[in-house]
Amino acid sequence: MHWRYNSPVAIRILSPELVSQIAAGEIVERPASVLKELLENSLDAGAARIAIDMEQGGIKRLRVTDDGCGISKDELPLAVSRHATSKISTLEDLKRVGSLGFRGEALPSIASVSRLTLISSTASDAAGWRITADGGRQLKRVMPAAHPVGTSVEVLDLFFNVPARRKFLRTERTEFNHAESLLRKIALSRMDVALELNHNGRQVSRLRAATNTATTEERLVEVCGSHFVEHSIYVEHEAAGLKLTGWIGLPAFSRTQPDLQYFYVNGRTVRDKLLAHAVRQAYQDVLFHGRHPAYVLYLALDPLLVDVNVHPSKHEVRFRESRLVHDFLYNSLKHAIAQLQPGHSSGLTRQVAAVNESPHAHTDFQRPSAQSPLPLRLAEPLSAYRAFYAQSANTQAGGITPDPQEIMPPLGYALAQLHGIYILAQNKHGLVLVDMHAAHERILYERLKQEALSAGISVQPLLVPLIVTLSHGEADTAERHLDTFRAAGFELDRLGPDTLAIRQAPSILSDIDLKELVRDVLADLTAHARSDRLQVAINELLSTVACYSAVRAHRNLTVSEMNNLLRDMEVTARSGQCNHGRPTWVQLGLDQLDKLFMRGQ
Ligand code: ADP
Ligand code: MG
Repeated sequence: MHWRYNSPVAIRILSPELVSQIAAGEIVERPASVLKELLENSLDAGAARIAIDMEQGGIKRLRVTDDGCGISKDELPLAVSRHATSKISTLEDLKRVGSLGFRGEALPSIASVSRLTLISSTASDAAGWRITADGGRQLKRVMPAAHPVGTSVEVLDLFFNVPARRKFLRTERTEFNHAESLLRKIALSRMDVALELNHNGRQVSRLRAATNTATTEERLVEVCGSHFVEHSIYVEHEAAGLKLTGWIGLPAFSRTQPDLQYFYVNGRTVRDKLLAHAVRQAYQDVLFHGRHPAYVLYLALDPLLVDVNVHPSKHEVRFRESRLVHDFLYNSLKHAIAQLQPGHSSGLTRQVAAVNESPHAHTDFQRPSAQSPLPLRLAEPLSAYRAFYAQSANTQAGGITPDPQEIMPPLGYALAQLHGIYILAQNKHGLVLVDMHAAHERILYERLKQEALSAGISVQPLLVPLIVTLSHGEADTAERHLDTFRAAGFELDRLGPDTLAIRQAPSILSDIDLKELVRDVLADLTAHARSDRLQVAINELLSTVACYSAVRAHRNLTVSEMNNLLRDMEVTARSGQCNHGRPTWVQLGLDQLDKLFMRGQ
């Protein structure tokens, strides 16, 4: 079948109802999008408490009640009129908009595809007033109605007059889930606002306002789960007029789906490719393949530097200096992740601070006076530990014997080795288990990368070249990657169709069977397509080299070798995960051990 558009007979101005319905097409997709607009209005009105009542997934009924500033009697008809807003009046206002809304379109658009009732009362009104709009036809009369200071917006029978749209709505359950997930986003954007959700007459959730560390953590647990809270760290970094705060999940707490990722720009929840990319990249080295990081992050910057008027539902933003924002984010997070060393990373010492404690925190932007980056606030910085250690040593010199528990390094001291795979160690909190291979692999990788970045990898020329025999394919791979190998500290030379000479290798690998290593790495490289970008390729090669060079399982280490490994882990960036994102160590606290044996119960 072929559809043809017939040229119009005359140009006409569309009726206001039709204009609103067209606008509704852009912002009102389902009950959750109605909820978004209503909640944003309540927040803009300065509400401290918001209650949501829904029936049948919000399709039958969706009501939002707040205790915000309210709308005066005279302005009620304006609130449901197109392009009427109290939030901006000039282009200058638009450029530095701090409110969530500003288009003056939501209420009339929603009203054009539902039966909408607005009841409101302001501090100066004696009582409340009501206005109703039905399928876009405003029933002009404003009637008295009882209401405390604040506003209730009730939306009935969504899409009752747009059957084509209604058909696209899913089951009640699905629509409700969408609404709930929207509420989670809002709940994290404004922790200071109390929220209540009821569905079909039953209370589904009740979040009290977070005003301090404990209640902030409580809300975080309710929205993201206690597992996230126990496996994340608080980050805070400020530089070049940008401020990043929030929580990032430890790499070992990665997810199969990108479903625990919340990002806010000046208090507004956004989906942004640039931001997502920067976060992904920061995690790149520590995440198990195909896994997704979990995070709740807040970026604050001068509103002049970000355009929020990009998309009708404002899911997207545009940054004036996108490169700067990307790099700031990438570097801040990468730094934070690199600091996840033993003694910092466990949930035990995680630091939580309240975000958005004041009602307008997300709009309170202050350009920092100093442009130098502040250090990331992470739990127990290593320097503090070192300072403490030095102090203990001094005290010791003074003749006082310190409590040995007190000067215990974070990962403690090795006790034994289990099946040649795990190190058992004892630290202040209890038992530490280390996956030897995973830990060693990370240490080697970080050292090689560090050397490659600074002076270049320190190398050891071989007096007698080592000759390796391999398959043609592997020799071809070697030849194609000679530059990458060179940058990684290896000098390889193809001698024949299936022979290769190793003339030089990184000094750090001096104890290793280089022939076997090169053979393993080439087999791996041949089997897996690798990146063509040199820097990425070098890191991949270094990671593979580290993996194949790391102590093999079943090799016996002496106690002092094990302790050396523990000390190395303590000072190595990202040492909580191996190069593939698996954890390198776990802590079994005395309390957990007690529980296993039902001690003290
Ligand atoms: P916008 O939010 O873009 O201004 P809306 O159509 O969402 O446009 O709302 C129109 C106006 O109605 C707002 O500018 C505001 O003055 C008023 N308003 C809407 N909801 C509320 C509310 N819950 N409390 C107080 N005023 C409200
Ligand atoms: Mg609005």
